[in-house]
Formats: sequence, structure tokens, C-alpha cells
Amino acid sequence: MSLAHLLLRQARQRPESPAILNGEALHATHGEWAARSARLAQRLRAAGLQPGERVLLFARNHPRYLEALWGIWWAGLVAVPVNAKLHPREVEWIVANCGARWGFVTTDVAPGPLAGLERQIDLEGDEAAALLAPAADALAVPVTERDLGDTAWLFYTSGTTGRPKGVMLTHRNLMTMGTGYFVDVDPVARGDVIAYAAPISHGAGIYAIPHLMAGARHVVPASGGVDPAELVALGRAIGPLSLFAAPTIVGRLVDHAVALGLSPDDCAQSFKTIVYGGAPMYVADIQRALQVMGPRFVQIYGQGETPMVGTVLTRADLAGSAHPRHAQRLASVGVAQTPVRVRVTDSQGVDVPLGDVGEVLIQGDSVMAGYWANPDATAAAIQNGWLFTGDMGSLDADGYLTLKDRSKDLIISGGSNIYPREVEEALLTAAGVAEVAVVGEADAQWGENVVAFVVAHAGAAPTEAVLDAHCLDHIARFKRPKRYIFVSALPKNNYGKVLKTELRERLADA
Ligand code: AMP
Repeated sequence: MSLAHLLLRQARQRPESPAILNGEALHATHGEWAARSARLAQRLRAAGLQPGERVLLFARNHPRYLEALWGIWWAGLVAVPVNAKLHPREVEWIVANCGARWGFVTTDVAPGPLAGLERQIDLEGDEAAALLAPAADALAVPVTERDLGDTAWLFYTSGTTGRPKGVMLTHRNLMTMGTGYFVDVDPVARGDVIAYAAPISHGAGIYAIPHLMAGARHVVPASGGVDPAELVALGRAIGPLSLFAAPTIVGRLVDHAVALGLSPDDCAQSFKTIVYGGAPMYVADIQRALQVMGPRFVQIYGQGETPMVGTVLTRADLAGSAHPRHAQRLASVGVAQTPVRVRVTDSQGVDVPLGDVGEVLIQGDSVMAGYWANPDATAAAIQNGWLFTGDMGSLDADGYLTLKDRSKDLIISGGSNIYPREVEEALLTAAGVAEVAVVGEADAQWGENVVAFVVAHAGAAPTEAVLDAHCLDHIARFKRPKRYIFVSALPKNNYGKVLKTELRERLADA
């Protein structure tokens, strides 16, 4: 069984149905998509690529990205989709680590040749067109069969500490994620649309799988990126969009809806479901999003090691303001998704009492096979069948998980644990604060001091004194930032995560 069969199945059942759109324009029906991917697979195999070999994808979002991805699977190969914002040197390290010989790129992302690749194919060029050119009998090209436990997607972690690690995601992992989506996240009907506003190399692209299972349409916005005005117009033109977005992207969509004076009903014409995750969504921000755009949000928590499958905070949870514990639930990441179990333990793997903070562990068929060529890291991450996520959190009696922070972001000041997220949640309710990131700074007396980097709303100028008074009203004295640094923007990676390591380095350098 291989993920390629999902495409073959749609192509046999409904060859004429629209599958990939480039903006509003049809790029491929399911039949055309399958024919191109199948022929690409045949040519990759004819060129000598062997089942299990890795093939790099280093490109901006593009309709052919999906055709190449399924062609790679059709040929029994392993896709290595990497973050388009990486430096070529970082990508060359990945190429060497995974031993990829072939790579598909777009030239905006990879303008020059990447060391280590034997063949580097521009997805927009003639060579890619020739490789994808279908033949009448293309569907007769057999899918190279794979075991469900074979790797399909090698997902390199962002590597904020040390070198990135290649997470081996198997066909089973991704099938599990795909089928679970309909139960836990959102039902999908034929003809629904998923829009790739966020990079296909990450969570947004992983959601191509359930949408192909359901025979939905896949649209790559013409800009190739996130433009709120474009998405609003696109949804109106082709039908309400579903998309995966980091909290920062949700914030931009909400700002745009406010600027245009759109009502929740207007937003419903453009957006069916916005799944968010990948970084903390603060209570103040999701409340505003729900108020402005209506009940079209679902939160997921996962990580590359258990892609998109950890917990879910459903549409009903988010909308259920009558529930007595609604406020706590809004601050949580919801309950375990159907395919997995979630526990919170101490460092020895022993469950902590309900409400106490510990490390989040996840077990189930979505959990990776391990890290590529890194048995030590695999043994540290997966113990007794449980994935140690490195995230800290607590469970309540109903099974709702509230994340604190990654263990490395915890601040210890004067012997007390301070979770930056709590301080951030408090500061975001102060007038004039648009964004905030709290980190620890080395201090001879206290071990660490709490420092807040604050981005103000346009036209607002919150002062240190006002923010300090606000904290005194909301959180324990010892958690208050000792220092505020006002900045125009927070450093973020391509997937919308605030780079706290970079903030800590700034403090250390100063
Ligand atoms: P990645 O492997 O790049 O997808 O990053 C996964 C990490 O992002 C997790 O281990 C969490 O620290 C964080 N994360 C993912 N989803 C959420 C969420 N819903 N809320 C807060 N943090 C999240």
C-alpha cells in the first residue's frame, strides 16, 4: 500500500473532476494529475532511481509541487520537501545527510546549483514539463508497492538546536493522519477546496492527503504565498477555502477582515475552515478571530514527529461559550485526536497528577518511525513506544491538554519555574500590545530574569510602567518581566514560529 493509490483511486473513479487549481484557473483534473505523476514515476525509475531513494523538493508552492510529490510516491521513492526559506548551505547539508541525488526546485528558491545533487530540475522549466508529459496509457504504469511501514516523507525539523533531524514519516503515519482528519478536524466533501497559503513542505502540504482522499480540489494561490486580500477573493470565486495557518497568518486574516469591515457571514463566503496550530494561539487572539470571522476555526497540536496528530480543539469547543469551562478550554489545545493517546509525565515517564505540568508524551500510528540515520536521537525521543515531545503541558479531568512551553523555553528565576506563555497571555490583554515574546536572560543573582519583547499596535505606545501595573493585576509578582524591549517585529521562521533562540542570543550579545 502506498499513498500513490489515493491518487490512482480518484483518477479511476472521477477522472474529469477538477483537482489542482492555479489561482482560479484549472491546472489538472484528477485524471490529468494521475497521468502526469504516473509518467514522472516511470521516468524516474527508468533513470535509475531505486525504491526508497530520497528525492528533494526545494520550491515555493506551485501546482507542479503536488504532481512531483505524488510522482515520487508512485515510483516508490521518498520525498524530502524542505523549507523554501532555508539557506542553500543548509539544504546542501540535508542533501548530503539523506543522500538525495535528484531534486525538484523553483529558481526563485534555488537560483544556483545545489552541491550534491546529480539532477536539479526546475519545476517551471521544459525539463519538468517533459518529465510530467502524460501518455494515453499512463494509468497503466504500476504503482511501485511499498510496505505501510516504509518511509514516504522525510521531514527535516527546524533544527533550532543543532543540526536538523530527518523525521521518517511512513505511509502508515500519513494514512493515519489522513483518515483521522475527517473524524477529528473537519469533514470534507467532494469539490471542497484546500488552499495552500502556508508552505506545502510543512503542515499545509501534509493536509493534501486527506483532501485527496475525499476528492477535494487543491488550490495554489497565484501569489504562491499568503495574501489575505487574494484569499478572500479566491474563496468568493471558487468556493469557501479550507486552509492550515499558523497563528500569525490567522492574525493577518483577521486584521484584513476588520480593515474591510467584513462580517462573519462575509467571511463564510471565503472560508470554510481555518485549522491553526504550530505555535501558541493566545486566548485574546482566538477570541478576536471568532468574533470577527465566526465559528470557522479548529486548533490542532502536533509536531513533525507525529504530523498534525496530537490533540484537537474542535469548532464546537471553540464556539461553546456556554460551557462552564469554556475559558480554560480556549487556552488549551484540546483533547487527544482519535488515533493517539496523550499523557503528561515527569522526566522518568511516570504520570504526574492531573493539573500538574510535565512533558507531553504521544503514542499511536501517527508517530514517526524514527530519525533518519540517527539511532541515538530516535532512542531518546521514543521510549517504550511513547514519543517524548519536548513540550510541557498539563491535562485536566476531561482530557484537555494545556501547553505551557517547550522545556527549553522554561525560565527559572530565583528557583521558581516561570512559563513564558502565561506572561505572554497576560501581556496580550494590555491595551496597545499587538505581539509579545517572553524569554529568560542570564542573571548572576537570580539565575534568569524575565524579559518581554513587545510589538505595539500601530499608533499605540504602551509604556513599561503601564505594562508592569497590568502584570501586577494579572499574574504573580515573581513572574513579571524585569525588563521590556519594544521592537517593531518579532523574528519568525517561515512557518510562523517566533525564534526565541534568536531573542536570547540578542540579549546575550547585548
Ligand atoms: P514542528 O515540528 O515544526 O511542526 O513544530 C512542532 C512544535 O510546535 C510542537 O512541538 C509545539 O512546541 C509547537 N506547536 C504545535 N502546535 C501547537 C499549538 N497548537 N499550540 C502551541 N504550540 C504548538
